[in-house]
Amino acid sequence: MNAYKGTRVFEGYALGKLAVYAKPPEVKKEEGKGSEHEFKRFVKAREETVAALDTSFMETLSKLGQEEAQLFATHKLMAEDLDFEDLVREGVEAGSSAEYAVKQAGEQLSSMFSSMDDAYMKERANDVKEVAMRIISALRKDTESFSLSEPSIIICDDLPSSELMKLDKKMILGIIFVKGGSNSHVAILTRMLEIPALCDIDNLEVKKGLNGTFAILDAAKGDLILSPGMKTVTQYSKKKKEYEDNKARLQEFRGKKTLTKDGRETKIYSNIASSFEVENAIRNDAEGIGLFRSEFIYLESKDYPTEEEQFVHYKRVVEAMKGKQVIIRTLDIGADKKIDYFDLPDEENPALGFRSIRICKERPEIFAAQLCALYRASVYGNLAVMVPMIISGSEVKFVHEMAKLAQENLSVRGIPFNKDMKIGIMVETPAAAIMSDLLAKDVDFFSIGTNDLSQYTLAIDRVNPRISSCFNPHHKAICRLIKLSTENAHKAGIPIGICGELARDEELLPFFLKIGVDELSVSPAYVLSLREQISKIDTREVDVEKYI
Ligand code: PEP
Ligand code: MG
Repeated sequence: MNAYKGTRVFEGYALGKLAVYAKPPEVKKEEGKGSEHEFKRFVKAREETVAALDTSFMETLSKLGQEEAQLFATHKLMAEDLDFEDLVREGVEAGSSAEYAVKQAGEQLSSMFSSMDDAYMKERANDVKEVAMRIISALRKDTESFSLSEPSIIICDDLPSSELMKLDKKMILGIIFVKGGSNSHVAILTRMLEIPALCDIDNLEVKKGLNGTFAILDAAKGDLILSPGMKTVTQYSKKKKEYEDNKARLQEFRGKKTLTKDGRETKIYSNIASSFEVENAIRNDAEGIGLFRSEFIYLESKDYPTEEEQFVHYKRVVEAMKGKQVIIRTLDIGADKKIDYFDLPDEENPALGFRSIRICKERPEIFAAQLCALYRASVYGNLAVMVPMIISGSEVKFVHEMAKLAQENLSVRGIPFNKDMKIGIMVETPAAAIMSDLLAKDVDFFSIGTNDLSQYTLAIDRVNPRISSCFNPHHKAICRLIKLSTENAHKAGIPIGICGELARDEELLPFFLKIGVDELSVSPAYVLSLREQISKIDTREVDVEKYI
């Protein structure tokens, strides 16, 4: 048995034989048989590619909708692009084969897209390479197209979206993208199709020899097991069945209000880490986005993301939620989230060091670009902004001053924004919880970050496994701070949510509901199960004293 670790693309379990999707062989530099001849071959291969793209477009349109199908229309435009054609012509005239000229043209255009500032255009760099590869396959007359003759788990370094859409979905048990990332277009399609999948697998090489190997994919834990023993197979078959039965049963909570047994209403929002994940939140019936960890935009970028790049992401989420509240957290870099281009200092105690709002105060230009992007997105729906790691009223004052400057900046540029966009703070330091009576007067809402609030209250580093056994998430000190913050929020007439991991803690749930927490924000996969759990709780029977 061989076990590997990966990152979840979409939840679920898969048990079955592996089917290897191998990348077509490299295109080598080779001479053509005359420019006329090679160019004609290119034109014919392009025609075939465009026809295949039209088919993928129609298939995706009928199965998933316009937005998902759009990529194939974009690919068609790229295939027919005149600049692309000119580059291929130059290549064949210089003596190359059509295959090599197409490869070169694809690479040239791809690096041009990569160097653009606009996030949307940057994302097109891989698309143009994919289009070139499709034309090359047509030139080579690659007849050996990938197909599945029995239900299988696909294993690949990466898979072109068009290949995925061509396959019979009933035959796909799961997908393992050994080298792919979780935000690539094919990963997004995989989520939309709800196929259990992992990406970014450590220490595994995709080889033809893996074909037919029995495998278990546990996307909940990020595990991939090759050639498991009978006992493991039985154990995972049971887990898979339980998971599927439970998923089917939870569907009855879709579209319902979140109500306790005694009729008290609360809201269940979702936490997301990328703008693409909003689809998961919607599919799982989240009533809003309680925490969009915007720093992931910075983490995925090679340099400071521009206002425009950030705006594209924020707008995408706000529009997708169609008027439901979206709470976007401003930059939370530092501590365990380090980024090279920020050039952060090495520190003795990074969790207590230069992070989040502290960086924004010292580097206001970074914060200003983010606030402008957020205000711009605010006109597309119900957007609220929250600031992490707050410890004092003076920091809140700084945030308001910066927000005002961002508004003035947009006014001068004639860009519309919602001047009433709500600004809240995370209560994730003991200082913020203890001072919550004063802070509540200056902000529109609170959201409790229990991950950090627990680490700072208990003085237990959240990323140090050595001391994790000392960590008691139900410690009364934490519950007291949550209760204090909730009372102070309500006294000031502002709502309060919880967006840390404790929001779905079964043991504390009755306590949160009894003290009147207005919203709980959890990973998309937990929304419906949390709604079910809440429906079984009668807050009249909850004794708050027991928790504090
Ligand atoms: C928290 O601290 O609880 C939180 C939600 O933020 P993060 O886990 O991103 O620090
Ligand atoms: Mg935090």
